[in-house]
Amino acid sequence: MRPGAFASVASLAVLTACAADGGSAASVSSSDAPGDRLAAIADMDRRVLSVFHRLITANVEVCPDRGWTAGWSLHAANQYDGPLRDVLVVEGLQGDLPAVSAVAPDGPAAKAGLSRGDVILGIDRVVLQAGETAGRARYEGVEANLGRIDEALEDAAPVVLRVRREGAEREVRLTPEAACDYDVHLDVSDELNARADGSSVHVSSALVRFATTDDELAVILGHELAHNLLEHREILDREAPARRVFGNLAVAPGKLERAERDADRTGLQLMARAGFAYEVAPGFWRRFGEANWRVRWAQWGHPSAAVRAAQLDAVVAEIQASGVETGR
Ligand SMILES: [Zn+2]
Repeated sequence: MRPGAFASVASLAVLTACAADGGSAASVSSSDAPGDRLAAIADMDRRVLSVFHRLITANVEVCPDRGWTAGWSLHAANQYDGPLRDVLVVEGLQGDLPAVSAVAPDGPAAKAGLSRGDVILGIDRVVLQAGETAGRARYEGVEANLGRIDEALEDAAPVVLRVRREGAEREVRLTPEAACDYDVHLDVSDELNARADGSSVHVSSALVRFATTDDELAVILGHELAHNLLEHREILDREAPARRVFGNLAVAPGKLERAERDADRTGLQLMARAGFAYEVAPGFWRRFGEANWRVRWAQWGHPSAAVRAAQLDAVVAEIQASGVETGR
């Protein structure tokens, strides 16, 4: 996690934002009232989580790395400072204790009756540590609590959560769901950007807004998830060790183009299995190319939006002709 970023994770959610220098996205302006900023971020977080949760649960059988998800996104007061933290403390959040930021529809947390604002006090016999609600934004204590939750969500066995809602404590039984073992992070940023780092998928708030439907958002998240699933980072780092220092410029463009094409193709297959309208992908890339010069023209190892769209037309036809069960 890093300051100024906001993140939500499907299997184990983290969301961070920083009042002082938190990035401002079109819909998350730092001039907005803190409550409005948090609400805008929460809306996007819920959208990203919902789409990502569908992708990682519908495709669990084809993922090399599998884990168990609660279908929630969590955050804590101490990840923020200033007015954003103040608003959350009034809403009942406390120190390092994780609280629900969003739940995926029909996911384990939703089925357990959890909703935004519920504070997690403990899981099975483990008591989470609140720490102090003071000082600058910090993450260590929150991360330690998230690690304790992650350890408990280790298999299909139900866990018992101790939860506080509007001052009252109760116990909630949650049954984890099998999923691809990757997280998703929403980064508050004006840049139209998404990336995959091998274990997580990152998407900027600006790109979430640019994707007008959940199907379009699934094009983005499916592509990045495919990079992780196909282990592109590990493969490219092994083939071109200088990539760790010089980034993709150290990789032959042909290799990158192949990785991009494979991620586009696999991404659509992931969408199809999760029941998303994968046929929107070529049109999305054409619109994306018109709106953003960075993807309009071919870049090092990345084909132009028009070339991508044409390749995706072929993938759509291929999936339609395959007669494969598409989840719809
Ligand atoms: Zn890519």
